[in-house]
Amino acid sequence: MIRILATGGTIAGTADAASGGLRYRAAALPVAQLLGNMDGLDGLPLEAEQVLSLDSKDMRPADWLVLLAATRRALQDPQVSGVVILHGTDTMEETAYFLHLTLPPGKPVILTGAMRPADHPAADGPANIRAALALVATANEGQQGVQVFMNGQAFAAREVVKARSTGLDAFDRLPGQAGATHPAGHFAALQVDTLPEVFVLPGYAGAPAELIDASVVAGARGLVLALTGHGSVPTAWEAALARAQAAGVVVLRASRCSGPVSRNANADDDGRDWLTAGDLPPAKTRIALMLALAVGWSRQQMIDGLPQL
Ligand code: ASP
Repeated sequence: MIRILATGGTIAGTADAASGGLRYRAAALPVAQLLGNMDGLDGLPLEAEQVLSLDSKDMRPADWLVLLAATRRALQDPQVSGVVILHGTDTMEETAYFLHLTLPPGKPVILTGAMRPADHPAADGPANIRAALALVATANEGQQGVQVFMNGQAFAAREVVKARSTGLDAFDRLPGQAGATHPAGHFAALQVDTLPEVFVLPGYAGAPAELIDASVVAGARGLVLALTGHGSVPTAWEAALARAQAAGVVVLRASRCSGPVSRNANADDDGRDWLTAGDLPPAKTRIALMLALAVGWSRQQMIDGLPQL
């Protein structure tokens, strides 16, 4: 039995008549109706559960915990051989990476979605669902890590990125990640009701230091800096970062480029007590840092472990 967990997204979206077909509303159809409208599922051992109904732009860490609980329940069921999660494409890479770190390795878990709504004459959702189901059905029990399946391709959760805002081939691999293996289920023992707040702050010409002070006031426990180049901290940010750190906030250098940010290269990370992202992009580094804070990793564990996740 394969369990389909639905969370909304364009794959369950329909055209918004008021916009003359220019826009659509994500998460409009319940999963039973979505699957009921599809060919090619007859006789397949499937069950479906509506876990969330969201446009994934609105997915929050609290929703990840709801989805994690539903996926854990499914995987613990001896009747279930694997899980397909239907998800909006905007934040699919974040949910996939969160689940990659928090689910036990073993039974296959695959996220899929669609770039076109369900009532589009050439909707891509049905083919993606059929392919994801076939992938789960043929995967072996020893699968390492959550995957995303979109437009004919499977991607590992750590490497996948929505690289293009439109078009069926929206998903890609982060440069330099093909073939790299990283441990799945590093935080599989996680038991929390909430996750620590970690904000991503963008670096750009003239980015104001007020972003940092405002983040501290808003309750951030960690800041992932999506900086220019090799993780270059603007001079104008240094005092505000020191204030944030004095208030107990963890600071991590990442890059808005797709290259690595290496420790003590281009900044005195040891002297400033800053963490570094390695080759993880900012949004995924944020997830790794949230989990590390949630389970109480020491600073040394964060220095050594975060870029490896
Ligand atoms: N905004 C939509 C979502 O992420 C886009 C999509 O699913 O393709 O839910």
